[in-house]
Amino acid sequence: MALFGTFGIRGIVNRDLTPELALKMGMSFATFVKDGSLVVGRDGRSSSEMIKNSLISGIISCGVNVIDIGMVPTPVTMFATKTLKTKGGIMITASHNPPEYNGMKFLEPNGMGLKKEKEPIIEEIIKKEDFNLKNWDKIGKIEKKNILPEYSKKILSFVNREKIGNLKIVIDCGNGVGSLTLPYLLENIGCSVITLNSHIDGAFPGRGSEPIPENLSTLQEIVKKTGSDFGVALDGDADRAIFVDEKGNFIQGDRSLALIIKNFIKNREGKVVTTVSTSHIIDDISGNRIIKTKIGDLIVARKLLECGGIIGGEESGGVIFPEFVPGKDGSLATLKMAEIISENKKPLSELIDELPKYYQYKEKIPCENRHKERVISEVDKKLKNYKKDRTDGVKAFTEKGWFIIRPSGTEPIIRCYSESKDKKEAKRLVEFGLKIVKETIDEIAKK
Ligand code: MG
Repeated sequence: MALFGTFGIRGIVNRDLTPELALKMGMSFATFVKDGSLVVGRDGRSSSEMIKNSLISGIISCGVNVIDIGMVPTPVTMFATKTLKTKGGIMITASHNPPEYNGMKFLEPNGMGLKKEKEPIIEEIIKKEDFNLKNWDKIGKIEKKNILPEYSKKILSFVNREKIGNLKIVIDCGNGVGSLTLPYLLENIGCSVITLNSHIDGAFPGRGSEPIPENLSTLQEIVKKTGSDFGVALDGDADRAIFVDEKGNFIQGDRSLALIIKNFIKNREGKVVTTVSTSHIIDDISGNRIIKTKIGDLIVARKLLECGGIIGGEESGGVIFPEFVPGKDGSLATLKMAEIISENKKPLSELIDELPKYYQYKEKIPCENRHKERVISEVDKKLKNYKKDRTDGVKAFTEKGWFIIRPSGTEPIIRCYSESKDKKEAKRLVEFGLKIVKETIDEIAKK
């Protein structure tokens, strides 16, 4: 079985992801890069220190040095890998997954996720146990480094501090590693900060590690009660940011992404990259500058670098500013949001209201992994009379909207999303999509 998923390795600790596997990954990655240094960062999970120690032992045993940057958000590890001129990096994190999970994200020297074609080479080294173990006097060295001052200085150079007024902002860090950076960055630019769940705890006792609507009621309430300008919730490794307006309303990730893109591209040239399942608000505001990819932040990041794009992201609350780091950064998204509200001198709810209005429906149906591919190709055949896009699953267009049917990359489900400016049409399209998927799954199950 392949070890690598959509972005590195992820699994349940001591079942899928053991110290032994971490050791071998360290040995394999070091064998692959041969010499020089690798950056290692980790999140605040209870198992992260254990995984880190194994990984580092593996790396140095093969003669590669380690720059240990300690407990940091994922974008900080990307930043360190890029700026310290290394051979690559590894971030130990399972992002928003529950506490029993952990994972490792492998990075290119420029800080981006590892190129797809390198994954089988690293797996092959593990399979053959073809490790480049060194003599006692050639073992790599470990250097500990606090990169946060450099990261903070650089990230703050991407916002116009003069223009940002004294905003009041509530941050829900979700007991994740964003507690180490975002509150201080916002204070640094003159904002008043109220923090929730800002003590790092690998059990995520506050509101869970994923910033989804059902976890954010406290944030919504505190924003309203304190008369704050907005609220923001980070995921466990602080690469995603989800916003709440001054009235306490939850803002869908693609609407906040649209607002940030709209303001960012105003006086700039360059492409915008998003995915085929993200709202067409982004199409409306980006015009012919838009490029759409398959689902996945790493795929968006790769495309941005390939086409020299200036901004990208997806609906889960990830915004990528490739000039800073080639991956999502929840802190930079939040700083940009503060800048946008200050510059426009309008409340966040009003700025969101000014965006084109679409209605969306998001549904999912259970489907065994082994049937997924067949279901999608059968659905594609059934929709032969539609204008379609096959970038990821099947996306079909009608005069007044679209729907997409695609397999989840991580769970045994098929997703069906629809969107239209007409609420009834959006509902009709999602119901129609669901009906076709259900029929097809039944037909395949009977055979
Ligand atoms: Mg994350």
